Amino acid sequence: MEPRKLDETLLNNLPGTRDLLPGDISRWQLIEDRARWIFALYGFQEIRTPLIEATELFARGIGGDTDIVGKEMYTFVDQSGRSITLRPEATASVVRAYAQHAMYRAAGVTKLYYIGPMFRHEKKQRGRWRQFYQIGAEVLGSDHPAIETEVVEMILRLLDSVGVSGRLLINSVGCEACRPSYIEILRRELRAQLPHLCDDCRRRSGANSLRVLDCKVESCQPHIDLLPAITDHLCGACADHFGRFKSYLEKAGIAYQIAPRLVRGLDYYVKTAFEIVSGELGAQNALVGGGRYDKLSEVLGGPPVQGFGFAMGLDRLVMLLSERLVAGSSAGPDVFLAFMGTRALDRALSIARALRSRGHACHLEFAGGSLKSQMRLANKLQAKHVLIIGDEELRRDQYTIKRMGDSKQWDATVSELLEYLNAQRPPASQRSPDL
Ligand code: AMP
Repeated sequence: MEPRKLDETLLNNLPGTRDLLPGDISRWQLIEDRARWIFALYGFQEIRTPLIEATELFARGIGGDTDIVGKEMYTFVDQSGRSITLRPEATASVVRAYAQHAMYRAAGVTKLYYIGPMFRHEKKQRGRWRQFYQIGAEVLGSDHPAIETEVVEMILRLLDSVGVSGRLLINSVGCEACRPSYIEILRRELRAQLPHLCDDCRRRSGANSLRVLDCKVESCQPHIDLLPAITDHLCGACADHFGRFKSYLEKAGIAYQIAPRLVRGLDYYVKTAFEIVSGELGAQNALVGGGRYDKLSEVLGGPPVQGFGFAMGLDRLVMLLSERLVAGSSAGPDVFLAFMGTRALDRALSIARALRSRGHACHLEFAGGSLKSQMRLANKLQAKHVLIIGDEELRRDQYTIKRMGDSKQWDATVSELLEYLNAQRPPASQRSPDL
C-alpha cells in the first residue's frame, strides 16, 4: 500500500542512521549468535547497560581532549535539568556498573561482554555511522598479559567463524610513569615538524600530542614517521609487560605486527593497545580496537581495578561477512501449510501449533487461495516443505508432504511428519552454531 502523500521529512530516517531490514537481519544475527557462543567458551557473561548516561561519565571516562567528547556526543538536557548523553561507547558504562554493583566482590576476574548501539555525531563517510553497533568485552580485575592474549584469540576465533580475516596491530602506550617523559620528548621533536603538518595535527600538538601519531592525512605521514616511537621510551614495568604479551601471542601462534604509532583515540589506555584491521574495508579499515585501562575505574571514582577490553564494529563486520555463510542460513520456514477451505484452516492452525511446539518454523497464509497460488508463495518464501490439507487429507488425517528442494512427495500423518522433521534437524533449542 502506497502512502497517500509522501512527507519527505517524516518518511526519512536521520542522516547516519539506518533501518536494518528483515532481508539483512540474518547477517547480524549470525554474528551475534556466534559471538555469544564463543564468548561463553571464554567465560564471558553479557551485561546490558542503559543507552543514556550522565554526560560526566563519558567526559571523565573518555577524556575531554578526545574527538568523541569534544565534538561527537549526542548530549541534551532532560526535563529535570540533567545533562544526559547517548553512549558513544560502552567501556565507561561497564566500568561504572562494575563499581556501582560492587562486582569486584565476586570471586576471580570479572568478564563481561555487550552487544548494542553506540551514538557519535561523526562526519559523513563510508563505514561511519552516527548510530552504529559494537560487540565488545571487558576483563576487570587482572593485569596479566596472558588474559590480553586470550581476548585477542577470542576475537580472532569469532572473526574466523564468520569467514573474516584481519591483521593484528599491537603497541604499548606506556603508563603514568613513562608516558609524561615520552610526551616531553615527542613535543620537542614535533616542533621541528609542525610547519609540515595539517591543522588537526597542529591543534593536537599541544594538549593532545599523542594523537598526532594517529593522524591519517597523507601529507603528514613522512613527517610523523620521523617522530620518536613510544616503545623506545617505556619504563621497565611497561617494557616487561609488552615483552610478555608478545611472547604469549607467539606461544598461541597468533601473528602480530608492532605499530609504534597506534595510540587509539581514548585517554584512558595504558600499556597494551591493539587494533585489528581489514584490507577489505578501505579508508575506515579498523574492525576492532582495544587495550588496557587500569586507571579508568579510579578516574570515575571507583576502586582501583585493572581493566582490559575491546570493541568491534558490527556494521563493518557485517559488510565483510562471508556470503557462503549467509547463503547457508536461509530464513525460509520448515513447513508451509497449504489449505483449502475453512475446516482445513482450523486443521492447519492446530498442526502448525504442534509443529512449532517442537521447534519447527511454520508459515500459513490466512487468506488461503488456490493450491497453485499457495505453492507459488511457498516457493517465494523458500519454504523447505509444503504440507497440503484438502478434503481428502482432512478425512484421512494424513497429509501430502512435498519437499521443495527435490519435489519429492509423500503422505504422512502429523506424527510421522514430526519424526521426519526431527531427524532432519534437531529443534532450535538443541542447536548450536557450527563453528
Ligand atoms: P572505538 O570505540 O572508536 O575504538 O571503535 C571501535 C570499533 O568500532 C572501530 O574499530 C570500528 O570498527 C567501530 N566504529 C567506531 N566508530 C564507528 C562508526 N561511527 N561507524 C561504524 N563503526 C564504528
